[in-house]
Amino acid sequence: MSYDTNNVFARILRGEIPAAKLYDDAFAIAFADIAPSAPTHVLVIPKGEFTHYDDFLIRAGDAQILGFFKAVRAVAQQLGVGEYRLITNNGESAGQSVHHFHVHILAGKKLGALVGD
Ligand code: 5GP
Repeated sequence: MSYDTNNVFARILRGEIPAAKLYDDAFAIAFADIAPSAPTHVLVIPKGEFTHYDDFLIRAGDAQILGFFKAVRAVAQQLGVGEYRLITNNGESAGQSVHHFHVHILAGKKLGALVGD
Protein backbone atom coordinates (compact mmCIF):
# COMPACT_ATOMS: atom_id res chain seq x y z
CA MET A 1 0.00 0.00 0.00
CA SER A 2 1.37 3.40 -0.91
CA TYR A 3 1.34 6.22 1.61
CA ASP A 4 -1.72 8.49 1.43
CA THR A 5 -0.55 11.99 2.33
CA ASN A 6 -4.12 12.90 3.28
CA ASN A 7 -4.58 10.22 5.94
CA VAL A 8 -5.84 11.63 9.22
CA PHE A 9 -2.52 11.33 11.06
CA ALA A 10 -0.64 13.06 8.23
CA ARG A 11 -3.16 15.88 8.56
CA ILE A 12 -2.64 16.01 12.35
CA LEU A 13 1.15 16.14 11.76
CA ARG A 14 0.68 19.09 9.41
CA GLY A 15 -1.58 20.82 11.94
CA GLU A 16 -4.55 20.75 9.56
CA ILE A 17 -6.83 19.07 12.06
CA PRO A 18 -6.67 19.43 15.82
CA ALA A 19 -5.43 16.81 18.24
CA ALA A 20 -4.71 16.80 21.96
CA LYS A 21 -0.94 16.78 21.45
CA LEU A 22 1.08 15.59 24.44
CA TYR A 23 4.57 15.24 23.04
CA ASP A 24 6.68 16.49 20.14
CA ASP A 25 10.34 15.83 19.34
CA ALA A 26 12.51 15.38 16.26
CA PHE A 27 11.17 11.89 15.59
CA ALA A 28 7.60 11.64 16.83
CA ILE A 29 4.51 13.29 18.14
CA ALA A 30 1.96 11.85 20.55
CA PHE A 31 -1.68 12.74 21.05
CA ALA A 32 -4.76 11.36 22.77
CA ASP A 33 -6.81 8.80 20.85
CA ILE A 34 -10.16 10.29 19.83
CA ALA A 35 -12.00 7.12 20.94
CA PRO A 36 -10.11 5.90 24.00
CA SER A 37 -10.17 2.20 24.86
CA ALA A 38 -8.66 2.78 28.33
CA PRO A 39 -8.38 5.72 30.77
CA THR A 40 -5.02 6.47 29.15
CA HIS A 41 -4.97 5.89 25.39
CA VAL A 42 -2.29 7.77 23.51
CA LEU A 43 -1.02 7.36 19.96
CA VAL A 44 2.63 7.89 19.07
CA ILE A 45 3.43 8.46 15.40
CA PRO A 46 6.71 9.03 13.56
CA LYS A 47 7.22 12.25 11.64
CA GLY A 48 8.06 10.44 8.39
CA GLU A 49 5.70 8.93 5.85
CA PHE A 50 5.39 5.25 6.81
CA THR A 51 2.24 3.22 6.35
CA HIS A 52 2.72 0.55 9.01
CA TYR A 53 5.26 -1.09 11.33
CA ASP A 54 6.85 -3.28 8.63
CA ASP A 55 7.17 -0.29 6.31
CA PHE A 56 8.81 1.73 9.12
CA LEU A 57 11.31 -1.00 10.01
CA ILE A 58 12.18 -1.61 6.36
CA ARG A 59 12.52 1.98 5.14
CA ALA A 60 13.40 4.16 8.13
CA GLY A 61 17.01 4.74 9.12
CA ASP A 62 18.40 3.31 12.33
CA ALA A 63 18.43 6.75 13.99
CA GLN A 64 14.76 7.25 13.11
CA ILE A 65 13.81 3.84 14.46
CA LEU A 66 15.74 4.31 17.69
CA GLY A 67 14.48 7.86 18.07
CA PHE A 68 10.89 6.78 17.56
CA PHE A 69 10.95 3.96 20.10
CA LYS A 70 12.76 6.14 22.63
CA ALA A 71 9.99 8.69 22.08
CA VAL A 72 7.38 6.02 22.85
CA ARG A 73 9.07 5.39 26.19
CA ALA A 74 9.44 9.11 26.87
CA VAL A 75 5.71 9.56 26.31
CA ALA A 76 4.93 6.74 28.74
CA GLN A 77 7.27 8.33 31.28
CA GLN A 78 5.62 11.71 30.76
CA LEU A 79 2.19 10.13 31.26
CA GLY A 80 3.42 8.68 34.56
CA VAL A 81 2.12 5.21 33.78
CA GLY A 82 4.49 2.63 35.20
CA GLU A 83 2.69 -0.28 33.59
CA TYR A 84 1.17 -0.07 30.16
CA ARG A 85 0.39 -1.96 26.97
CA LEU A 86 1.87 -1.13 23.57
CA ILE A 87 -0.05 -2.13 20.45
CA THR A 88 0.64 -1.64 16.80
CA ASN A 89 -1.75 -3.09 14.25
CA ASN A 90 0.39 -4.11 11.30
CA GLY A 91 -2.10 -4.10 8.41
CA GLU A 92 -5.86 -4.15 8.01
CA SER A 93 -6.50 -7.75 9.05
CA ALA A 94 -4.58 -6.96 12.25
CA GLY A 95 -6.98 -4.08 12.89
CA GLN A 96 -5.14 -1.14 11.36
CA SER A 97 -7.55 1.58 10.23
CA VAL A 98 -5.23 4.58 9.84
CA HIS A 99 -2.38 3.95 7.43
CA HIS A 100 0.30 6.05 9.07
CA PHE A 101 2.39 3.85 11.37
CA HIS A 102 1.47 4.37 15.01
CA VAL A 103 1.85 2.77 18.42
CA HIS A 104 -0.98 2.80 20.94
CA ILE A 105 -0.10 3.30 24.63
CA LEU A 106 -2.87 1.94 26.84
CA ALA A 107 -2.96 2.20 30.61
CA GLY A 108 -4.94 3.31 33.62
CA LYS A 109 -6.92 0.18 34.37
CA LYS A 110 -6.44 -3.58 34.50
CA LEU A 111 -6.44 -4.36 30.79
CA GLY A 112 -8.43 -7.31 29.51
CA ALA A 113 -7.85 -9.90 26.83
CA LEU A 114 -5.14 -9.14 24.34
CA VAL A 115 -7.28 -10.09 21.34
CA GLY A 116 -10.98 -9.33 21.01
CA ASP A 117 -13.25 -10.86 18.42
P1 5GP B 1 -5.63 1.58 14.31
O1 5GP B 1 -7.00 0.97 14.25
O2 5GP B 1 -5.21 2.06 12.94
O3 5GP B 1 -4.60 0.75 14.99
O4 5GP B 1 -5.77 2.85 15.24
C1 5GP B 1 -6.25 4.06 14.77
C2 5GP B 1 -6.69 4.86 15.99
O5 5GP B 1 -6.80 6.21 15.59
C3 5GP B 1 -8.03 4.46 16.57
O6 5GP B 1 -7.87 4.06 17.93
C4 5GP B 1 -8.89 5.71 16.42
O7 5GP B 1 -9.75 5.93 17.52
C5 5GP B 1 -7.85 6.81 16.28
N1 5GP B 1 -8.28 7.94 15.48
C6 5GP B 1 -8.90 7.91 14.28
N2 5GP B 1 -9.12 9.16 13.82
C7 5GP B 1 -8.62 10.00 14.76
C8 5GP B 1 -8.54 11.41 14.84
O8 5GP B 1 -9.00 12.17 13.98
N3 5GP B 1 -7.95 11.93 15.95
C9 5GP B 1 -7.42 11.14 16.94
N4 5GP B 1 -6.86 11.76 17.99
N5 5GP B 1 -7.48 9.80 16.89
C10 5GP B 1 -8.07 9.23 15.80
